[in-house]
Amino acid sequence: ATMPPLLSAIANAGRHGVLVKSCVVMERLGAVDRVALDKTGTLTEGAPRVAEVRVLPGSPLTEDQVLALAAAAELPSEHPLARAVVAAARERGLPLAGAEEFSSAPGRGVRALVDGRKVEVGRPGEASGAVREAEAAGRTAVEVAVDGVPVAVLGITDRLREGAPAAVAALTRLTGTAPTLLTGDGEPAARSVAAETGITDVRAGLLPEDKAAAVQAWEREGRRTLVVGDGVNDAPALAAAHTGIAMGRAGSDLALETADAVVVRDELATVPAVVALSRRARRLVT
Ligand code: ADP
Ligand code: MG
Repeated sequence: ATMPPLLSAIANAGRHGVLVKSCVVMERLGAVDRVALDKTGTLTEGAPRVAEVRVLPGSPLTEDQVLALAAAAELPSEHPLARAVVAAARERGLPLAGAEEFSSAPGRGVRALVDGRKVEVGRPGEASGAVREAEAAGRTAVEVAVDGVPVAVLGITDRLREGAPAAVAALTRLTGTAPTLLTGDGEPAARSVAAETGITDVRAGLLPEDKAAAVQAWEREGRRTLVVGDGVNDAPALAAAHTGIAMGRAGSDLALETADAVVVRDELATVPAVVALSRRARRLVT
C-alpha cells in the first residue's frame, strides 16, 4: 500500500529533523496562522556565557566568591543561564560547595543554601545601575543575592542562531503575520535579539503564565498559534498553543513532553519546513 499523506509527511518531517508526535499534529501544523517564538534557546543558541561579573558597591565579596556561590546554587538547574554560571566558575577553577534546599521558580531563577548562606540567582529585583549597564550592552542581567541582599549582577550573552532571521522571514511568509517574541528576559536584551531577527512585536519580562495568557488571547480571537520554545518556562504556552514545537537539544524535559513536535536537528529552519510539509499533505488529504 502507498503511505497515507500525513504518515509520509511525518516520515518526511523526520528526515528534516523534526519529530512530529502524531498524524493529528502533522495535520494541525499547516493550519497555524500566528507564531510566537521564545528567545533564550530558541532564537539564540542557548549556549550562553558569562561576559562580566559586576560586584555591587558595598559588597564585601570578590568576583570569584560571588561566582562560586552562584554556581553552587545553579548546579542542579537545567536552565541555559544556570549552565553558563556553572561553566564560568569552572573556567576560573573555583571550588563549588554543595547546595542544600535547592528550589527553582521557572522564569525567575533559583535559590539554595550554600555554606549556610541563602543564595538567590535570577531575574533582577529592581533595575539598578549595574543592571541597566549590562542590559545597555545587550546582555541578560542576572542578579546574585546573598542572605536577601543583592551582591552582584552577571552580564550574560548568547549568540543568535545562524538561521534565525531566515526562519522568521519564512514563517512570516507562510502565515501572513510576523511572529511575536515572547520572553522572560528584560526588554533591552529582547529588543536587541528581535532587531537582529527582523521581529518587531516584542513582549518582554513575561512569566511562564504570561506567555500562556498571550497565546490564549490569540486563540480566543480565533487565531491558531504555533509556539516554539525550549524551557520549563515555555511549557504553559506550549500547552495553550494550537500547536507547540520544542527545541530538542537544549530543551527541558517538560518542554519536550508538552510540545506536539520536537526539533531534533538543532536548526530553526526545520520549523517553517514542517509547516510547509503539513500544508502539502493537507492538500493531498482533502
Ligand atoms: P526566556 O523566556 O528568554 O527563555 P526565562 O523565562 O527562562 O527566559 O528566564 C527569564 C529570566 O529569569 C532570565 O532572563 C533570568 O533573569 C531569570 N532566570 C530564570 N531562570 C534562571 C536561572 N536558572 N538562573 C539565572 N536566572 C534565571
Ligand atoms: Mg527559552
